[in-house]
Amino acid sequence: MSDLTRKTAVELQELMTSGQASSVEITQAHLDRIAAVDDSVRAFLHVDSEGALAQAAAIDAKRAAGEKLGPLAGVPLALKDVLTQEGVPTTAGSKILEGWKPPYDATVVKRLKAAGIVILGKTNMDEFAMGSSTENSAYGTTHNPWDLNRIPGGSGGGSSAALAAYEAPLAIGTDTGGSIRQPGAFTGTVGVKPTYGGTSRYGLIALASSLDTPGPCARTTLDAALLHEAIAGYDPMDSTSINQPVPAVVEAARRGDVTGLRVGVVKELGGEGYQPGVEARFHEAVELLTKLGAEVVEVSCPHFQYALPAYYLILPSEASSNLAKFDAMRYGLRVGDDGINSAEKVMNLTREAGFGDEVKRRIMLGTHALSSGYYDAYYGQAQKVRTLIQRDFANAYEQVDVLVSPATPTTAFPIGDRADDPIAMYKNDLCTIPVNLAGNAAASFPCGLADEDNLPVGFHVMAPVMRDELLYTVGAALESALAEQWGGVLMAQAPELEVTR
Ligand code: GLN
Repeated sequence: MSDLTRKTAVELQELMTSGQASSVEITQAHLDRIAAVDDSVRAFLHVDSEGALAQAAAIDAKRAAGEKLGPLAGVPLALKDVLTQEGVPTTAGSKILEGWKPPYDATVVKRLKAAGIVILGKTNMDEFAMGSSTENSAYGTTHNPWDLNRIPGGSGGGSSAALAAYEAPLAIGTDTGGSIRQPGAFTGTVGVKPTYGGTSRYGLIALASSLDTPGPCARTTLDAALLHEAIAGYDPMDSTSINQPVPAVVEAARRGDVTGLRVGVVKELGGEGYQPGVEARFHEAVELLTKLGAEVVEVSCPHFQYALPAYYLILPSEASSNLAKFDAMRYGLRVGDDGINSAEKVMNLTREAGFGDEVKRRIMLGTHALSSGYYDAYYGQAQKVRTLIQRDFANAYEQVDVLVSPATPTTAFPIGDRADDPIAMYKNDLCTIPVNLAGNAAASFPCGLADEDNLPVGFHVMAPVMRDELLYTVGAALESALAEQWGGVLMAQAPELEVTR
């Protein structure tokens, strides 16, 4: 059997249906791959070999019994460590949750299990999803499989690196300001942020509740669409869940026809400050869409320039409130509990020891922005900007069906390069953040390698609320046209990783 870890989810399903491979074999192949390369990639915080093999055996038994199974049944997946999985350690990349085993499954996890998807383990991330590089994880940095000296993006760098290292064909991320799309761009993989409310937040350890969105990651557009369909849809356990049918993402990914599609290039996202190789690949991809029959125009979104400052007031405000629950009493770490210290002292000591610098920075920022006397000047003002950005999107979508931009201003940067410069780090998210503020759908698709460094560039597509299928239409069209040029997917051009075990 040729290497099972090189296959797409769709190919793996064909092997299982035709009896050429079992889910146990496929799962074992991925566990072996993790054992072989994860010492250098460090995508996983926890590998659940036993649980995964048991799940795989159960699927094989169902298949043998002739049970009708879904399109991803038996396919392995890497889960971002911010979603609860019953009985499996869940840390959100923080020391404060070390040793915590959730008593319940997140809705996304429940749906993965119902679809027969095999969960290999939990992936590394920036602490509480605050960051763009995984350098803020309390458990060390994940390395980019394209160049181990570089970051894989963040906060969901572990999930994307697992895909790029062939440790898993599917992964789950969460996107609050770009944490699915930016790591997708940096690793040459597909990352989709569904419409806010299109996927359930129940069981997702909250960063900013009005922005957080779980979503699918994969090496191909169709694999991502199949995963999207498996996890999306109304959930009464999430009060902001949208009670509407899931957009027809799989059908769109299969057709990939952009004929007549109106595509708007966002004027404000590009130009000065963008890496030349990123701009070059982006504009070539736009031209390719024109050749494929799309109608391309330039569209102005004048308020996008205020998105970053507004986000960095809204997000810390919500985060400071969400993180108040880590009080040393309910979960994980407890420091200074000697029977003499007051509860307040224990709480202070635990939060001091348990939270990293970036988390503390944002808790302070958010607490200040929400304090009386400053609320209107900061939080209130940021909310007004949010409305202006929503109006920019609404105006744009009167002219076009989708908007496009580079996914990130640069390619993956070296580990340590921006770790001490929060503003430089925040600027990674210039292109991805406006979408989160508006609740729209968006995705990053690989569109080539930058000339300067031979690293992947992401093509960013944005679509209106609950029109997620349009992302897949564009992604699939690009993917098949580029595959003709490249003779396969971009990932096939990644260097081989050294096997360490
Ligand atoms: N990099 C952004 C931040 O640090 C995005 C985080 C996210 O999407 N979880 O806030």
